Amino acid sequence: MPDDDLLDRLRSFKRDAFPQYRQQFKSLVEGGQHPTTLFIGCSDSRLLPYLLTGAGPGELFLVRNVGAFVPPYDGSYGHHGTAAAIEFAVLNLHVSRIVVCGHSHCGAIRALYEGVPPEAHNLQRWLELGRDAALPVQPCEEAFRRTEQRAVVLQLGRLMEFPMVRSRVLAGEISLHGWHYVIEEGEVHVFDVETGRFLAASVATHSGTGPYAPYVEHDGQVLSDENP
Ligand SMILES: [Zn+2]
Repeated sequence: MPDDDLLDRLRSFKRDAFPQYRQQFKSLVEGGQHPTTLFIGCSDSRLLPYLLTGAGPGELFLVRNVGAFVPPYDGSYGHHGTAAAIEFAVLNLHVSRIVVCGHSHCGAIRALYEGVPPEAHNLQRWLELGRDAALPVQPCEEAFRRTEQRAVVLQLGRLMEFPMVRSRVLAGEISLHGWHYVIEEGEVHVFDVETGRFLAASVATHSGTGPYAPYVEHDGQVLSDENP
């Protein structure tokens, strides 16, 4: 029987890591969780939200899926955990920030160009939530990077179709943050709604802007959603 490394890791968490967080978890249980940020990120194993943001226990309400996509509010994609998480985070937890975080070398974005195995019918339908971000060009790394960023903006637009999000963004109670994490550079590029561009966090003056406005690329192309 092979070594059960998962069991080893669970034991080591309890023994080595948990003690330094014991008090923190105790107060988070007694006082409940009050995260300020809803983080919608791709499931990619190279995207580490806690590492990127320096967040600890109780700070991020986290939902992840393939591509960091936001399903439509109208339920036309059936029951979805991401839509439920958005409603819960806004209405019950009263988060003040929502981050949508895509990344470089995203398999979901690549699959928009290259397709998925025929038996992956759930994945195939899910990827439609990023379809409008795809460009009518030959697949290449540059097209993938641009599509990854366009997909983030597309999801911000769909977030604004959630009435409880829209009203709070317009009231200045919630800020939206579109991020594109470039894995190999350790750099998050943040969406700037004023210029319609992504800026490296190391030179940006903010971590994302709202309220959301239509995304206009430098070539003047306006990104549209399938539910304008
Ligand atoms: Zn991804």
